[in-house]
Amino acid sequence: MRVGLGPQTLLAFVVFLAVLASGPVRAATPSLDLDVELDPGTRTFRAVALIAPAARELRFDLHESLRVTAASADGKPVRVVPARGEGPVRAWHVQLPAGAARLRLEYGGTLPALDRSLDDRRVLRALPPMASNEGSFLPAPCAWYPQPAPLFTYRVTVSVPGDQRALVPGRLQSEVLPPDGSGRYRASFDFSHPATGIDLMAGPWVIREKFMPRANGGPVRVRTYFPQELDAVAGLADGYLDDTRRYLELYGGQIGAYPFTEFSVVASPLPTGFGMPTLTYMGAEVLKLPFIRATSLGHEVLHGWWGNGVYVDYPTGNWSEGLTTFMADYAYKERESAQAARDMRLRWLRDFAAVPAGHDESLASFRSRTHGAAATVGYGKAAMLFVMLRDAIGEDAFGRGIRTFWDQHRFQTASWSDLQAAFDKAAGRSLATFFDQWLNRPGGPLVKVVDANAKAEGGKVRLTLTVEQAVPAYALRLPLEIVFSDRSETRSIDIGRQRDVITVDVDAIPDGVRLDPDLRVWRVLDAEELPPILRRWVISRAPRLAQASGEGDVREAAAGLAQRFFEIPPQAVSQDGLNQGTEPILLVGLHADVDASLAHAGLPPRPVRLAGRGSAQVWTVVRGADPPVAVVSAKDADSLRALLGPLPHYGAESWLVFEGRRALERGVWPAPGRVIAVQTVR
Ligand SMILES: [Zn+2]
Repeated sequence: MRVGLGPQTLLAFVVFLAVLASGPVRAATPSLDLDVELDPGTRTFRAVALIAPAARELRFDLHESLRVTAASADGKPVRVVPARGEGPVRAWHVQLPAGAARLRLEYGGTLPALDRSLDDRRVLRALPPMASNEGSFLPAPCAWYPQPAPLFTYRVTVSVPGDQRALVPGRLQSEVLPPDGSGRYRASFDFSHPATGIDLMAGPWVIREKFMPRANGGPVRVRTYFPQELDAVAGLADGYLDDTRRYLELYGGQIGAYPFTEFSVVASPLPTGFGMPTLTYMGAEVLKLPFIRATSLGHEVLHGWWGNGVYVDYPTGNWSEGLTTFMADYAYKERESAQAARDMRLRWLRDFAAVPAGHDESLASFRSRTHGAAATVGYGKAAMLFVMLRDAIGEDAFGRGIRTFWDQHRFQTASWSDLQAAFDKAAGRSLATFFDQWLNRPGGPLVKVVDANAKAEGGKVRLTLTVEQAVPAYALRLPLEIVFSDRSETRSIDIGRQRDVITVDVDAIPDGVRLDPDLRVWRVLDAEELPPILRRWVISRAPRLAQASGEGDVREAAAGLAQRFFEIPPQAVSQDGLNQGTEPILLVGLHADVDASLAHAGLPPRPVRLAGRGSAQVWTVVRGADPPVAVVSAKDADSLRALLGPLPHYGAESWLVFEGRRALERGVWPAPGRVIAVQTVR
């Protein structure tokens, strides 16, 4: 196909300056200058692109809804040829005449409408460009612009109708606000670091702005782009502006100065949660949730350093989600309390324990969130790697490693081995074994104390432990809790073989020992370290039902509930069966009957925190080798029937209080793990 001659260049070409205050930008970085006109109501998109390519031959992609209508090089027409292709993204090809410095393309089309079913971060790569008055989103991977190279700098001017606002990541250079909503809104952005892509967003937003003063590099412009109804929520926009400034300050201190001049919180009509350079694009519904400012906002701000400040070398694995989760989500839990941090580590390990055998991948093979098992590794295991790394090299060396990594790699692509090099340097030793075992091996170690004995020797006590693990063995430093009759103390032991014999000197005969009770090591938990949550019953391959009540109506409701609750139909057992066998049992009945059954079987009574509350109570009981029992206790048959719909959805809980169908309160019992008894030898 031939394309016509375009009019003379309308836009001044932006000469890219090689020397910039920050960032190792080279003069050869290709640049792109875009002038975009978007009309969300009609979904009309028109753009003029000026490209300074790195080579005479340029191939670029464009979304199938867009076509090139004119092309020229230094004012002379050139042929731009679309490759025959399938799929939503089409390849185009152009050969520039010798000596041509820049290519000018006019292109445009009608964009697809906003599709609310495309709502999850998992499908970002597959999202088409979308336009509507409620909001428009043109993500980089959909190819809404001709990208000159994998890394490039850009300037974008975007124009939308006067009741809309629009932005792309970058420094805001100029902005024209129409005086009365008529006319057009126009804003220009400049991204002078090498970028990997451009996302464009527009919406019917109110803009609010505050500045964060900064010692170097001038103030940071902090903005919210919220639709009217969100902006009208008292204190919401202000809260986001203030919290964003707080996070920018926090991470600037920990890592190095924030590398951009802006950060915007932008509301999306889709329930997304994207972190982009200089902004986060989050669902308007999500932004209303009270905990988002305390968690996700900090996570997204931190991506300004990890992911958008240092880029991920995807073929060798995505380190950025783990490091961001560790320094944001996990750090906030640590600040809350030691227990809250332990709960988060437990959740990672519990999720890992639930990954079916053979479905876990190595951390090095994690690219981005695709499904549950990958997220367990890419977020949980990766964050735990940093917990273990900091434990191993100490807080100071860890902080130095973080700053070194930032200094050496900002605005470049970096890999796990670059991270390792920075931490090697900070720790003053090679961490190759550590990184290799956690990055390249799937799964985790399964460690057991198989023997523990203590011997008194001349005023001292020598504790000897035999610790076993599966082969190939991991090199681990494991916390060891030594439990005495009146106290306990924690030591560290180093293991690295299939079977290690460790001796520890203590000053009294201990009662027992417990490995890693605080869950500081990524490993396969044993059953007693996993909190007894309802899922254990739901997925049982041989579930059992014990009826506590005699009334036909109640028994019928209980049987119906058990059918829905278990994945496979349960076998009925008598109340005496509560202490027989090993497979999980569901005990169901009215309050008084349940209390009598528990007493009869010698089981712990109804937990105090549940007693007398709601119309039904559910809790789990786990006792050593005896079968685990989940109890459903209701005030009448109707209250049991009300649980049919909701109960199967609460597999992640240990206990719940229901009022009718509604869960009033729920939670997870602690699982302290097993204390291995210490034998005394003479
Ligand atoms: Zn993230």
